Amino acid sequence: MQTLTEIRELAQPPYYKPFSRLMKQWFGEPAYKLTLDAGFTCPNIDGSKSTGGCTFCDNVSFSPALRTGVTRVSEQLEQGKAFYHERFKATKFLAYFQTFTNTYDKVERLKALYDEALDAPDIVGTSIGTRPDCIDAEKLKLLQSYADGSSELWQKKLAEGRTEFKRPFVGIEYGMQTMHDVTADFVNRAHSHAETVEAIALTREHAPDVHLCLHLMSGMPFETDEMIRQSIEECARLRPDSIKFHHLYVYENTVMAGQYAAGEFEVPSLERHVRLAADCLEHMPPDVWIQRLVGEVTSSGVIAPQWGRTKMQIYQAITDELKRRGTYQSVKWRG
Ligand code: SF4
Repeated sequence: MQTLTEIRELAQPPYYKPFSRLMKQWFGEPAYKLTLDAGFTCPNIDGSKSTGGCTFCDNVSFSPALRTGVTRVSEQLEQGKAFYHERFKATKFLAYFQTFTNTYDKVERLKALYDEALDAPDIVGTSIGTRPDCIDAEKLKLLQSYADGSSELWQKKLAEGRTEFKRPFVGIEYGMQTMHDVTADFVNRAHSHAETVEAIALTREHAPDVHLCLHLMSGMPFETDEMIRQSIEECARLRPDSIKFHHLYVYENTVMAGQYAAGEFEVPSLERHVRLAADCLEHMPPDVWIQRLVGEVTSSGVIAPQWGRTKMQIYQAITDELKRRGTYQSVKWRG
């Protein structure tokens, strides 16, 4: 049951709950995500699940042979911090383990990398991007120890007066993308939707304080609007803490780029993505934070779609669509 306060808040522009608001609630000011490449690979690339990776994954430029320049996590954080400090006077940051599958190693190595990130000055949390089939109870318990503030690392940071926060923000991000295994097979995800559902249950059991984010993709090859809405409703049923809803884009040097050039499928139009993003928001529960509503649009490596709009303009188009409909996040949620 939604409270009147929740409804009043959601009925104001932007008509959904932006993740940035959660960060301000936690830390009293924005916390910027600093993306990291910690040198992981992926079971969908190294052959343990499959080879070649997801067809949309830009793994060619990250292939082990070309990836000689990966610097230490702490160095990458310093560079990222300098950029955001210069641009926005930012002082608080989340270490975002983004590149490839960031739980795909022994727990000892994961701990060393996460410790290094969380120990860095001005880092107030972390977010770990991974696949649903690359998590287990032991890894989740490690994440829970950070999330509840009990880890040796965070206790030391507190004792030394290097943080004012009793616990860091700790998130895990699973690539659900679609609930339709037929689509997942076409793009070579090499995991099923059932594995996503299992990973969520395991996370809630062993890491209740970890913020769980699901990634969904609109416009996957051959998916109808109805199929995408089914994935949206399934995502809402799974009750993540936040979502990233992004559109399919074709990146150069990917398997998908070849399929697109051969005319095997079409990419989504801007109008379609805006419509589906508004549908997604209408179906999300009121307590789900919205981390993202669009994928990459300006990178020079993006072949299609070419919408000629900035991310800000696309966010505004989604807000305008909700305003036009007279709706907001959660109006169609059947909780
Ligand atoms: S699971 Fe992620 S890292 Fe692995 S191939 Fe797919 S998109 Fe790339």
